[in-house]
Amino acid sequence: MKIMQNRMDRGFYMYQDEFEKKALEVLRSGWYILGREVSSFEEEFAAYTGGKYCVGLASGLDALWIAFRLLHIGKGDEVIVQGNTYIASVMGITINGATPVFVEPDEHFGIDVRRIEENITKRTKAILVTHLYGMATCMERITEICKKYNLRLVEDCAQSHGACDKGQMTGTFGDVGCFSFYPSKNLGAFGDGGAVVVNDMQLAEEFRSFRNYGSEKRYYNKVVGANSRLDELQAGLLRVRLSHIDELTKEKQRIADRYNRELNNPFIKLPKTAEGTTSVWHQYVIRCKERDKLIEYLDTKEIGTIIHYPIPPHLAEAYRNLGHKKGSLPITEQLAETVLSIPIYNGMTNEEQTYVINAINEFKESAV
Ligand SMILES: *Cc1c(COP(=O)(O)O)cnc(C)c1O
Repeated sequence: MKIMQNRMDRGFYMYQDEFEKKALEVLRSGWYILGREVSSFEEEFAAYTGGKYCVGLASGLDALWIAFRLLHIGKGDEVIVQGNTYIASVMGITINGATPVFVEPDEHFGIDVRRIEENITKRTKAILVTHLYGMATCMERITEICKKYNLRLVEDCAQSHGACDKGQMTGTFGDVGCFSFYPSKNLGAFGDGGAVVVNDMQLAEEFRSFRNYGSEKRYYNKVVGANSRLDELQAGLLRVRLSHIDELTKEKQRIADRYNRELNNPFIKLPKTAEGTTSVWHQYVIRCKERDKLIEYLDTKEIGTIIHYPIPPHLAEAYRNLGHKKGSLPITEQLAETVLSIPIYNGMTNEEQTYVINAINEFKESAV
């Protein structure tokens, strides 16, 4: 049996009729940018998260960098961020000229709260929390630290649509919640898309203006903005997916529950959510000392896997200028050497799950 790490086609065929109907509706409407679909999606997504306002944007990276831009965080400022995040989180900071200060993750892949305060300096302006792999990070202590030091709080929720900490949804704890609707995300579009969720009305208006060349009224430009609009077609298709998000999330949680219960290979460490939090299992990430042997072995069984991520941002060629060396973030670097994302996707059959479970349980370090 051949099993890919992700199957986005399955997510389409689950609601094929609804997606096709909506696509035709938008195509025939004659209105393609900033119309009813986008404003309806914004209302529905804000309501879903429990946040007050949502502003649709062109991508998750745009959500991040525009967030820091509108919070006036730039040159000379520092932003605290976990070392094991996706590099886009870091680019959201550095595009504005600000400096990322990397903090090691904890055993749940989230920022290690115990290591935040020792990294705060006079230049620190914000904390960026990534709810990585769909697991919500515990926010209580982090929001306290932000209050104590008067820091802004931005959440990277590109992987965590619907994940909660003590019943509150990620993206609503701080100043800005940044979302991506890249096709492989839990709430995926059929192209690029992103959004922010904010509680401050004025900030929401600033995002609305910024995404459209900095104009509130057409051709009257107040600030130098960007072209970062979620388009009508993607917004319409996202509304279809959003109307099914609870069943889609539950399906992934059922698969993860099975993995948690049935994977029992002593060479493999399973992911664990922090107490009081939920995961929407954007990825199911296991750890294995002989990770590369495991990849090779699963490959012989035709099971696809991906490493999220093989090179941590502080060691990326793009960030050589930051001057970090191998060994400067040992926990982050060890994760990069041991993590592996196994197949998990909407529409994954029971047989496929069983095949993956059996194959992984039969892996021996000497197998390849
Ligand atoms: C996907 C992703 C982004 C970037 O989103 P795009 O829509 O691809 O720009 C940012 N942060 C994290 C954690 C992501 O997974």
